[in-house]
Amino acid sequence: MSSLKIALFPGSFDPFHNGHLEIVERASQLFDKVVVAAMRNPQKAGPLFSLHERESMIEKSVAHIGNVEIVGLSTLVVTLAQEMGASVIIRGLRAVSDFENELQMAQMNRELSGIDTVFIPTSAEYSFLASRLLREVWHYGGDVSSMVPPPVASALAESMR
Ligand code: ADP
Repeated sequence: MSSLKIALFPGSFDPFHNGHLEIVERASQLFDKVVVAAMRNPQKAGPLFSLHERESMIEKSVAHIGNVEIVGLSTLVVTLAQEMGASVIIRGLRAVSDFENELQMAQMNRELSGIDTVFIPTSAEYSFLASRLLREVWHYGGDVSSMVPPPVASALAESMR
């Protein structure tokens, strides 16, 4: 068995924003390798970007970090974690309101696989960022370009045309 500590950071990332990027940067300092998984979320209908588009945007946004791999999949998080050899799942926490749901998910994932979840608290400057809110603001013509990495800002501008 490999002794590399691999962490899986799953999410919808629709779109990937600066809060997500900061979590990847910090996780990459804590683990040997971070796998960012853009997942299809059955509870979120009508995605803004396809899984493939999200994967490619994340790949460009994290190009400056050496130990990160990107996958785009629709499967159970723990199944993917096992396939990737990840021993830890990473989730970001913005506020107490995130915690209830995250705790339940972490307990379910541990029950299913024995894999633990590590929570990384967001930096205060990003705590208001949420993909759902960004989609809403963008939909009504608001400028969100300073809240997302440049490759995501370009993709948003492109899809406006
Ligand atoms: P979900 O996985 O629920 O579809 P997202 O794709 O928006 O949600 O987020 C993926 C992960 O990133 C989750 O762990 C979420 O808590 C975390 N996250 C989202 N927004 C932020 C933020 N502003 N700062 C830190 N972590 C965040």
